[in-house]
Amino acid sequence: MALVTKSIKGTQDTLPSESYKIQFVEQSVLEIAKNYGYKEIRVPVFEHTELFQRGVGDTTDVVQKEMYTFEDKGGRSITLRPEGTAGVVRSYIEHGLFNEAQPQKVCYLISCYRYEKPQAGRLREFHQFGCECFGTASPAADAELISLVNDIFAFLDVKNLKIQINSIGCPECRKNYHKALQEYFESKKDELCGTCLGRLERNPMRILDCKSPICSEIAKDAPKVTDYLCDECDEHFKKVQQYLDAMNIPYEVNPSIVRGLDYYTKTVFEFVSTEIGAQGTVCGGGRYDGLVEEIGGNHTPALGFAMGMERLLLLMQAQGIEFPPEAKCDLYIATMGDDALGKAMNLAASMREFGYYAEFDLMNRGIKAQMKYANKLGAAFTLVLGDNELSEGKAKLKEMKTGEETEILLDDKFTVNFDAVYFDKLMEGLEEQEVLGAFGKKEND
Ligand code: ATP
Ligand code: MG
Repeated sequence: MALVTKSIKGTQDTLPSESYKIQFVEQSVLEIAKNYGYKEIRVPVFEHTELFQRGVGDTTDVVQKEMYTFEDKGGRSITLRPEGTAGVVRSYIEHGLFNEAQPQKVCYLISCYRYEKPQAGRLREFHQFGCECFGTASPAADAELISLVNDIFAFLDVKNLKIQINSIGCPECRKNYHKALQEYFESKKDELCGTCLGRLERNPMRILDCKSPICSEIAKDAPKVTDYLCDECDEHFKKVQQYLDAMNIPYEVNPSIVRGLDYYTKTVFEFVSTEIGAQGTVCGGGRYDGLVEEIGGNHTPALGFAMGMERLLLLMQAQGIEFPPEAKCDLYIATMGDDALGKAMNLAASMREFGYYAEFDLMNRGIKAQMKYANKLGAAFTLVLGDNELSEGKAKLKEMKTGEETEILLDDKFTVNFDAVYFDKLMEGLEEQEVLGAFGKKEND
């Protein structure tokens, strides 16, 4: 019997004490993508199985081994998305986004599902941030996309990532390349794994991406795709490198990158770390000029990337990167008796209207226990309300850090008065730079 108090293998929870980290990362990536003109798109978690078979490619590991596929009650074959691009392309075609101004730049934060062997940086439910850019064949778009990923890592202060790029050509140059690969692997046929034997005829390039140690050893000496590029693809790849140079973005050409999904053409790239173990690819992407047509739209050059959020967080933690601290309670109102509780609710409501984080007792605790809770919350200020305070219409506002008390009227100017004390204390206690930061935060609130 399933143990219902244990999560399913390969899935994980984000607990309330940790969620501020991923929230910060998500807000950051959306903000940076916005500066490049990307707008968020939201698509369903599940799609027709055939979309992924066609979009991701039925000779890939993802389609052959890793998809969560089931029949729904209406007899449809449904698959939980293993990646984001296919669904976004479907949406681009379905909603005629090709009629809008091109390029169409869209981005997404999604969960993905792959039946893989769970290990560090490899889950069965994981999360991606992705960007897709439709309608441009220009190599400048490839370079801009790599620059966007580079900006994200720079903003998050992530270091030591290697940018590896390659070109895997177009269907034209790939014909010759496939022939060369087939000749090469034919001679090693006896050593290839079963899956790769099947790939030899249909899609020999997939063998280069096989995770089996024997296949990857054989693949090391295979012919290099960059030696088989047609003039147009070769020129495109040179331009991409020229633009990256112009932007001072360091990269390496790695002819062994082919990426795990079938739809790529021309430029492919990965951002790789050596600091989080075997699953070091934090971001992967490239151009997919044939995909929109493959899925049923008009020929549309396009490109994109996806970044693994769990791997990104692992890397940020490995590098000891500090996240902006989560919001602490601004005011805790301790109460004695029901009338005081009513007043506390009233004061807290006006505090929250101003954008302050305020709490009061919901546990029917004594004053001492309430103060203990306020400490746990890290409350900046506390206020104790009892019968005396209510009858006099004023109470003592206590700054928790210093223990200093200020008398404050419990009238309808309460929040304005609190504001004044709050900023006074802030000015006393903080360096100029920090004060500016704090003001900035309140404006955003
Ligand atoms: P890998 O070679 O590590 O299996 P992939 O080529 O299958 O990766 P993509 O399909 O390109 O990965 O997905 C983009 C990114 O999503 C990866 O670079 C990685 O950061 C993340 N990712 C992919 N699969 C997983 C997974 N099972 N668990 C966590 N993150 C993943
Ligand atoms: Mg994979």
